[in-house]
Amino acid sequence: MELSTDESTQAAQAPQRPRRHSRQVTLRHTVDGVEHETKIGGGAPITVQSMTTGKTHDVEGCLAEVRELAEAGADVVRVAVPRPEDADALSAIVAGSPVPIVADIHFNHTYALKALEAGVAKVRINPGNIGKPEWEREVLRAAKDKGVPIRIGVNGGSLEKDILDKYGYPRPEALVESALRHAEVCDREDFQDVVISVKHSDVYFMIQSYRLLAEQTDYPLHLGVTESGSMKTGPIKSSIGIGSLLADGIGDTIRVSLAADSVNEVKVGHQILKSLRLGRPGVNVIACPTCGRLAGDLFSVVDEVEEAVAKRGFERDLNVALMGCAVNGPGEAAGADLGVSLGRGRAHVFKKGEIVGTVDQDEIADAVIDLIERWDEPAAS
Ligand code: SF4
Repeated sequence: MELSTDESTQAAQAPQRPRRHSRQVTLRHTVDGVEHETKIGGGAPITVQSMTTGKTHDVEGCLAEVRELAEAGADVVRVAVPRPEDADALSAIVAGSPVPIVADIHFNHTYALKALEAGVAKVRINPGNIGKPEWEREVLRAAKDKGVPIRIGVNGGSLEKDILDKYGYPRPEALVESALRHAEVCDREDFQDVVISVKHSDVYFMIQSYRLLAEQTDYPLHLGVTESGSMKTGPIKSSIGIGSLLADGIGDTIRVSLAADSVNEVKVGHQILKSLRLGRPGVNVIACPTCGRLAGDLFSVVDEVEEAVAKRGFERDLNVALMGCAVNGPGEAAGADLGVSLGRGRAHVFKKGEIVGTVDQDEIADAVIDLIERWDEPAAS
């Protein structure tokens, strides 16, 4: 696996975050007559995906969900296509969507063909159930004609029978064999617009599957822990699985799967990227856990600042440290771009290591937000 740290892959990202070299695919979609391109792989910013949960053939309901996900920051939205009426609804959904739409196809390759006709930006097929090889080739040829990428979406829960028989369990080698088998089919069709995923509900196996795959192909990789659970467990499993791989430089697009409102998938996805300084520029809030030395109400300050940061979507790469006392607080706060350190109902405010003021407890959050807003203003002399 080749890791790249060249500047083109690091645009708008923190330095020294090496990424695996991968090919690039382009998702095309048109909004108000203007064509947009979303790149996956090849050093493009890592995209965050989510999936609608309502019936796709309910066009208005589906589009409302797509818009809500896009507003929350989803770069790409996938919709399930389990029935003919869902395939029929795709052209209206594509026409009304502000982001690229991916059609998720299992079992029936004719829905993939319909999706391509409808103008979707990408099609996900499950090699474990797409059916006869000639059906798969038909989909690949249609995708090639349209210039639309395909995701080979291998899933530990739906592997081909012969592979499952060979390995006895959906272990990493089995998922990778399935993915590479279908990548070879794409190669034979001279079709390279391919993204691969090898999702597993077992986080450890998921990580091992992607690591193994990353050594054997340079196709861009879509990361996800499948069926990761509710808001209680899913963000943790996804953060471990997706985060471990991203920290290795592996992964070009991510989807956090949650048994919860899909907007949460997008929020958690962006938070994973932000935690690794791989996401869009933004404010990173650091807060101490508090202990017996706490000298004020830190939790409400953290809540207020995090809420304001999430709501306003500041596009500045700033580390903001919120610290609970004067023991470790000043050191940590001074090391961040902006920081506060509580002390007996008041707080010192630090900017780039210098104390720039002292504020009362009930003014701390407002003062921090104000300083973030005015960050680019020259310091008063
Ligand atoms: S900064 Fe102070 S209050 Fe917070 S954990 Fe450290 S010692 Fe405790």
